Amino acid sequence: MSDFMESYSGPISRLIEEFSKLPGIGRKTAQRLAFHVINMNINEVEGLSSAILEAKKQIKYCSSCCNITDRENCDICSSKNRSDEIICVVEDPRDVAAMERTKEFRGKYHVLHGVISPMDGVGPDMIKVKELLLRLNDPSVKEVILATNPTIEGEATAMYISRLIKPLGIKVTRIAHGLPVGGDLEYADEVTISKALEGRREI
Ligand SMILES: [Zn+2]
Repeated sequence: MSDFMESYSGPISRLIEEFSKLPGIGRKTAQRLAFHVINMNINEVEGLSSAILEAKKQIKYCSSCCNITDRENCDICSSKNRSDEIICVVEDPRDVAAMERTKEFRGKYHVLHGVISPMDGVGPDMIKVKELLLRLNDPSVKEVILATNPTIEGEATAMYISRLIKPLGIKVTRIAHGLPVGGDLEYADEVTISKALEGRREI
């Protein structure tokens, strides 16, 4: 297998190399994708490569909630139908998408882009905690829901943030344990998420 690999010439072996850097893509899949690309017509390949480049160039973090957007403020932060009173704190932009599918939460979000994880060398200053605290200067904020995942890091991050917020006199809640331990919000169904949100309790 590896001898077979090494027999590829420059461009194709580089393409295989790049694909294999992607999450969940092993060497075998990387090879299959590389050969698929080579067999695509040139317009399709150009469409794929420009979609990748444009997404990377245009997508940035919302200046308020840090969710991904192609504008200064994301659709949710700019919406007049969303309340400023409740901020739901999540780990990842994919968690926002999961929560939005329930169509039940009418507040706003804050995306941390990770969790505190000393094992992985991730400290509080490496995720968007500072940005969250800045938003709490707005007196309209009445509640912060901590919706980080029910993992050790997710729980520790929720505790860390709650300790920072409580002295500010803002209600801090944690979503209920409807989610399986170690389970991701991202993969939970709408009913589970709605129940976790409904059953949140003050911490
Ligand atoms: Zn936003």
